Formats: sequence, C-alpha cells, structure tokens
Amino acid sequence: MRVLVRNGTVVTAVDQYRGDVLIEDEKIALIGASLADIRADKVIDATGKYVLPGGIDVHTHLDMPFGGATSADDFETGTVAAAFGGTTSIVDFAIQYKGQTLHHAWETWMKKAEGRAVIDYGFHMIMTDLNDQTEQEMDALVRQGVTSFKLFMAYRGVFMLDDGSIFRALLRTGQNGGTICMHAENGDVIDVLVRRALAAGHTAPKYHALTRPARAEAEATHRAIALAEMADVPIYIVHLSAAEALEMVTEARDRGLPAYAETCPQYLFLSYDNYEEPDFNGAKYVMSPPLRDRAKQAQLWRGLAFNDLQCVSTDHCPFCMKEKRLGENDFSKIPNGAPGIETRMSLVYDGGVREGRISLNRFVELTSTSPAKIFGLFPRKGTIAPGSDADIVVFDPNRTVTLSAKTLHMRVDYSPYEGRKVTGATDTVLSRGRVVIEGGKLAGRPGSGSFLKRAART
Ligand SMILES: [Zn+2]
Repeated sequence: MRVLVRNGTVVTAVDQYRGDVLIEDEKIALIGASLADIRADKVIDATGKYVLPGGIDVHTHLDMPFGGATSADDFETGTVAAAFGGTTSIVDFAIQYKGQTLHHAWETWMKKAEGRAVIDYGFHMIMTDLNDQTEQEMDALVRQGVTSFKLFMAYRGVFMLDDGSIFRALLRTGQNGGTICMHAENGDVIDVLVRRALAAGHTAPKYHALTRPARAEAEATHRAIALAEMADVPIYIVHLSAAEALEMVTEARDRGLPAYAETCPQYLFLSYDNYEEPDFNGAKYVMSPPLRDRAKQAQLWRGLAFNDLQCVSTDHCPFCMKEKRLGENDFSKIPNGAPGIETRMSLVYDGGVREGRISLNRFVELTSTSPAKIFGLFPRKGTIAPGSDADIVVFDPNRTVTLSAKTLHMRVDYSPYEGRKVTGATDTVLSRGRVVIEGGKLAGRPGSGSFLKRAART
C-alpha cells in the first residue's frame, strides 16, 4: 500500500518546505520536492495545507475511575476524538492501587485499550504503593516499554506518596532508565484548607480553586525537583498550571538540572474567572491543579517559547455534568477533570502560532517532537522523516471552526471552550499509514491502534 501526500508544506520541529511525502505501508518511505511520477494507491492533495507529524498527547485518562465516577471516554471514543483533533499517539495512565502489583495494573489497562483504540497508545504507571517488590517490578516494566512512572504529592490516603518513597522511586530510575512524572501539589496543606472551607460552609465549585493555592503547587514543584537533584536523575512535572511553579522549573533549568514540565491548554486559555460562572457551571472546570489568574498566563506562554516548558498535553479526563453533580453540595466531591483530547492542536495553533507567541516549528515541537523525545518514542514518532511511522496530519491553517460539545467527538455533554472560534483545523489524519480521519469522517477502525513499547533513557 502506497499513499502519496502531495503539494503540502511539510513542517517539523526544525524544517518547513514545500514537498511530497510517500508512505509505504506503515512508514514514511520518501520525501521530495516532487514525487508526482511515483505511482501510489492513494493520493492526498495537501495544497495550501501543512503536513505535520501526528500530535502526541502524553497525558490522558481514558476509562479511569475517580471518586465514584469513571471518566466518560473509553479507549475507543477517546482515541477517535484524539484523531479528529490531529493526535495520533497518546500516553495514558495505568493505576496501581494499594496492595496490587504494577503488573496487574498494566494488564488491567492493556485490556481496557485492546481492540478499542484507533491510534497508538502507551502507558505511564501510577504508583501508589512502593515497596521492595514494586521497585523490582519497575525495572521489568521499563524493559517492557512502560518507561515512565507517575507519583502524587497530593491526595493522601488515595494516591499520595511520602517524600521517602518518592526519593526511592527516583533513585531506582537512575538505575533502570525510567522517568518519574510528578503531580506536584502539597496535598496535606490542601487537605487542611479544604476541611476549613467546608466547615465554614463554603461548598461552591470555586472553593476547589481557592483551597489549592499556586504556592502549594510551587512548593511541591520545588521539592520534587530537589528530590530528583539529590537522586541525580531527571524529573518531569505534569500539568504545570501556576507561574509560581514555573519559576521553580526555570530556576532549576538555569542551574543545568534536567527538570522538564508540561502545561495544558486549559491553563493557557481558561482562568479562575470560569469558577465564578453561575448555576454550578464552575464545576465544569474543576480539575487539579485548578485554573489560575488570567494575568499569569503570559508567563506560561513565555515558558513554552523559551523551553522552560517542553510539552503541551491535555490531562483529558472528562466527566458529564451528572457526575459533576456528585459535588453539588460539597466541591471536594466534584470529580476532577475536563475534556481536551480533541481541541489541543487547534487551540495551541490558534492561540500560539497565530497570535505570535510561538513559531510554527515550536508548535510542532511542543505538541509532538518534544513529547516523543522525552518519553522514548523518537524518531519513530514526533517527526516526518524516512523510516518514521507514517503518523501524519494534514492541517488547514486557514479553516475556522467553532468549538462546541455538539460537534466535537468526545463523549461528554459540555465543552470548556463552548462557542470559542479557532482558526487552524485538522483535515486528514494517518496513523501508521492508515487513513483514520478524512473529509470530516472517521475512516479508522477500533483496534487498529497498537501498544507503544517505549524506550528507556540512555
Ligand atoms: Zn492527570
């Protein structure tokens, strides 16, 4: 099977040129100024469009139980929505619950994805119970392609690990080549603030944000980086939301430490003001960390432009309003999370490239190349080059769409961006050479996505 993508502008993290891309089976075979003479089974005309490496979203929660509910998208609906939005690989999270082995958690999440995903998927492993056996299991998982581990500094009694356990896990990655990803918020301080708020009768959604101060994120970010520095290993901070936390990452990087961080579109485009929306609508935006002050967003953009932030992921974790209403009388019972897997590329292109905050190359780097490099997928994923997987997005930089839950494909009954107009939209999507999205329609098949065995750090 040969597919030829013709007349587009090929864009990678470093290049931009008019050219044709020939795909043979699952791989990119040839790139040239004109490959018009080559016979192909299918020709995709990309005139006036960008030809981008498929988006890589390294932070999604499909089919995930949380606080008495389950995230609304499973591996079929979630990956279909991702593909519509120009994302061709995700790294989701398997969860080890207390008393379970890591292997059991991995098998459980592999079963959730098998036969359902339309794009490729990998897993990070959330560790909630660290002991001698778990540490050995980390090594085995790294060999099996689960090369990153997520730890929590919040949610005591559920996910949270103490500093000693975190330090042990960090040390272990120094030997096995894994990477620790950190949810950095000071959970104990937050728990006290939550109890005090509820005791004072403050139950509305906005108190979710008011009990999770930016300084609690900054303190934990600083501590996580310090623990990694003492263990002499890299660290990756997930869903960084606060400018105060970014300052900690920047300070560490200025000292030459391998500290990395991602932010998410919600922290770039939404803000604390959304929690003030009437009629419990603030619950739509309940996620952790919470949305921050609009005035601080410019600092996050600067972090993205100057490489103090390396990735934009989504933390896609949607709950329908029925589930959100579990917290109608108590904000602490609102399931944490919001939809975003489908809207990432258009939002970041529109707000980033079109607004002049980041370059087109940097857009590709933040949404594809850099996540591929940090999480062991490069050069198989994250670029357009001979030999790379043919994960390709034909992206129309001039098409304007209005974001709405009615037209998006995520299985959730609201959009945090309802009514927002964005210019820059995904047209055609190929995953390992197979057409997944074409002409606004799904052409992919559930189960055609494969598990991504990721490489360890070398
Ligand atoms: Zn998350």
